[in-house]
Amino acid sequence: MQIHQYDTVIVGAGGAGMRAAIESTQRSRTAVLTKLYPTRSHTGAAQGGMCAALANVEEDNWEWHTFDTVKGGDYLVDQDAAEIMCKEAIDAVLDLEKMGLPFSRTDQGRIDQRRFGGHSRNHGEAPVRRSCYAADRTGHMILQTLFQNCVKHGVEFFNEFYVLDLLINEGKTAGVVAYELATGEIHVFQAKAVVFASGGTGKMFKVTSNAHTLTGDGQAVALRRGLPLEDMEFFQFHPTGIWRMGILLTEGARGEGGILRNKDGERFMERYAPVMKDLASRDVCSRAIYSEIRAGRGCGPDGDHVYLDLTHLPPEQLDAKLPDITEFARTYLGIEPYTDPIPIQPTAHYAMGGIPTNVEGEVLRNNTDVVPGLYAAGEVACVSVHGANRLGTNSLLDINVFGRRAGIAAAAYSDKHDFVPLPENPGALVEALVEGLRNSTGTESVAKIRQELQESMDTNVSVYRTGKTLQQAVEDVAALKERFKNVSIADKGSRYNTDLLEAVELGNLLDLAEVLVVSALAREESRGGHYREDFPTRDDVKFMQHTMAYREVAEDGSTSIRLDYKPVVQTRYQPMERKY
Ligand SMILES: Cc1cc2nc3c(=O)[nH]c(=O)nc-3n(C[C@H](O)[C@H](O)[C@H](O)COP(=O)(O)OP(=O)(O)OC[C@H]3O[C@@H](n4cnc5c(N)ncnc54)[C@H](O)[C@@H]3O)c2cc1C
Repeated sequence: MQIHQYDTVIVGAGGAGMRAAIESTQRSRTAVLTKLYPTRSHTGAAQGGMCAALANVEEDNWEWHTFDTVKGGDYLVDQDAAEIMCKEAIDAVLDLEKMGLPFSRTDQGRIDQRRFGGHSRNHGEAPVRRSCYAADRTGHMILQTLFQNCVKHGVEFFNEFYVLDLLINEGKTAGVVAYELATGEIHVFQAKAVVFASGGTGKMFKVTSNAHTLTGDGQAVALRRGLPLEDMEFFQFHPTGIWRMGILLTEGARGEGGILRNKDGERFMERYAPVMKDLASRDVCSRAIYSEIRAGRGCGPDGDHVYLDLTHLPPEQLDAKLPDITEFARTYLGIEPYTDPIPIQPTAHYAMGGIPTNVEGEVLRNNTDVVPGLYAAGEVACVSVHGANRLGTNSLLDINVFGRRAGIAAAAYSDKHDFVPLPENPGALVEALVEGLRNSTGTESVAKIRQELQESMDTNVSVYRTGKTLQQAVEDVAALKERFKNVSIADKGSRYNTDLLEAVELGNLLDLAEVLVVSALAREESRGGHYREDFPTRDDVKFMQHTMAYREVAEDGSTSIRLDYKPVVQTRYQPMERKY
């Protein structure tokens, strides 16, 4: 076992991790640990844009943006955090521009902006052009730009290092433990400050836009170490995934004028959202799509999808603004988007919940106290700027604003504090985990359990939920967790043992699925992305609060999820009925 020492350790090299690293490396000795090569992080798959009220193409201001974010999140947003994000958005975009990001431009040479769901002028009057973009490769450009700047600042990367444990001693952060893919060696990184920036959890669903690697490792590690997870029942289903595959077709397609149509060719969103139409928030559009399908107005022989219609847009516009997603339609569906509508269905996309933090990125151990030296930012975290439903383009914004803040805060903490001694046997938990899997003689297969988990989640915990389906999911997940104890892997070796890591990742997904379904079952209301058919209205009296889920270990070693609740921070916006 190797032991390393750094002032600050960042877990993850996606947008949030690298944005944090750029700040922290300039202020403290920093290591970035990442299970993927940095430029393979999921941020690179983001398509449509990053929003900021630059007002480059039409009137806009950050207060309108804040209102849209709070309303989009169905009033579960912590409004102080949303204000900070929307105010700092403008500098966040300009910082990226200065770092070299090649944004798409207007004829006058300014950063161009396009429409996105839920972003409006003057509190909902009409859609506004707020999203800055680089064609439909915005995330790719952000990730490459941040990586180049990390190289420029000499950020030290440990690539293909899987962080599997967090060390807390004397109530303070002491470091992390990682498994090196190439060698199978276990490394302890002693650190004064640790920033988790390890991304989302979408792989617990079958039809998802998320990469294979989005297994919620950071959230699972925190949960296992006794920290709460906030609002995990709120998972976003993006309206336009490629039918049956879930590969994302950006909302920017509707921002450019694309339209959703049912089998009669009707632009059905006019009935659900008379003002914003196809640019209503994602939860509203995804529910509308399933309502059409359930009413028998779905397309195709099985009536199980609807169309994204781009045929009325000029081919030059599609080529310039949406080159990647039109190519996806050709490659994966054999459809020519110039002339034919594209079959789509909602796809599991984004975790609104995560590790609770305050606006400096400090991780909370309960409703009020922080864990000294521990930070989180990006999709792994919950500040909460997205509440019950995230607006499109607010995540690339979130990772830049709160990634930067966490990097600065972590480095400042490292500067002022000493190392906390490592606990005894710091690698013990990871060793036991790895050896347990390697030596298991069980008969269960990782692929089979993962498939059954994903199928149950797609069936029972999707856009529409009821107490009955959620109860089914609770039972399914519990049974799968039991079977997982008996899982075995084919590769017993130490070099590049991806078999072993996929088993670890599945364990993480199972733990997080349990939190999600238990939290969802207890929330007897409908809000944002969490829609209960048995409780179809929002209940502000009982449920205008954040769920805080803790893992409890009983004396016999069995575990369960305990739920608590935390008040929402309200500053200027009173909850209203949400109409688009
Ligand atoms: C297809 C797609 C399109 C999207 N389009 C947009 C968009 O246009 N606009 C927008 O705002 N949002 C968009 N999103 C959402 C947004 O891209 C993500 O929420 C955001 O990029 C997440 O960034 P992150 O830095 O938190 O995580 P990621 O970019 O996912 O990075 C996670 C990092 O953590 C590392 N990691 C994970 N586990 C471990 C571990 N155990 N040990 C060590 N390292 C670990 C990984 O190696 C990786 O480097 C999109 C998402 C998808 C899936």
